[in-house]
Amino acid sequence: MSAKFDRVFCLTGSGISAESGIPTFRGKDGYWRNLDPTKLATAAAFLNDPETVWQWYRERRELIRRSQPNAAHEALMKIAADSRRFLLVTQNVDDLHMRAESEGRRLSPEQIVQIHGDIFVTRCCRCDFSRREIDQDSSGVPKCPRCGASMRPGIVWFDEELPPHEVARVEEFPEDGACDPVLVIGTTATFDYIVRWALAAKGKAGRLIEINPDETALSQFATEAIRGPAAQVLPQLVKELTEGRHTAFKDGFFLERA
Ligand code: NAD
Ligand code: ZN
Repeated sequence: MSAKFDRVFCLTGSGISAESGIPTFRGKDGYWRNLDPTKLATAAAFLNDPETVWQWYRERRELIRRSQPNAAHEALMKIAADSRRFLLVTQNVDDLHMRAESEGRRLSPEQIVQIHGDIFVTRCCRCDFSRREIDQDSSGVPKCPRCGASMRPGIVWFDEELPPHEVARVEEFPEDGACDPVLVIGTTATFDYIVRWALAAKGKAGRLIEINPDETALSQFATEAIRGPAAQVLPQLVKELTEGRHTAFKDGFFLERA
């Protein structure tokens, strides 16, 4: 069977996992014990109070372990299976994209970039030791078995730089041809690199489709914005795109953009 799409690029944020029960940072359930997650997810917060930051991450790991991929994660697997080349760049640190399946297949490591890291990784603050704690967490502030320094979650915090190797993987993907479609799902797109990557991938001709209940920093650049929750919108959208019968301005969801 030949692929229906040549090159597909997707960008996701915490909104795609909201319907799996994982709160977004800025949504109504985002706060943790009256603490603002955008302040907790910083190297500064970790330096100041590593116990509290670790406790927050452990509770989030527990919630993610109990959560399941939703219909939006699965719909992306379908479009991946129908693409000659597919790249998903997620800001999410959960593992729901990796656990989602379509016809028994999962994304390969080449098809996904977790640009803000992986919540299940625990790594040393000093040396390059790291391990993945998928089933069980250590307690307190774990110490590195190699050098004895404190260990931290394998997250890219708000006050840290993106990992250069992963950035290169994202920026090399569009090559000379445009991606079509480019799907941007469940992100406020407040980081400029999200908007920049979406536009670079789209090129001159590609469709840039945003799926988000609210307007975002990306909306003005989208060729189409679908104002609905991802798990409801994506299965239908992917089906229509795959069957070549997707047209904008239907079902009251669609908002015109030039
Ligand atoms: P954000 O919290 O700033 O924004 C979430 C976006 O999702 C909003 O635009 C909102 O309108 C949208 N949204 C809410 N419900 C939705 C739904 N059902 N369907 C589609 N969209 C929906 O999150 P962000 O822009 O991803 O960035 C914040 C940072 O927080 C990221 O760096 C990310 O690493 C981290 N984070 C990750 C997770 C996770 O891994 N699941 C959860 C929370 C935060
Ligand atoms: Zn170490």
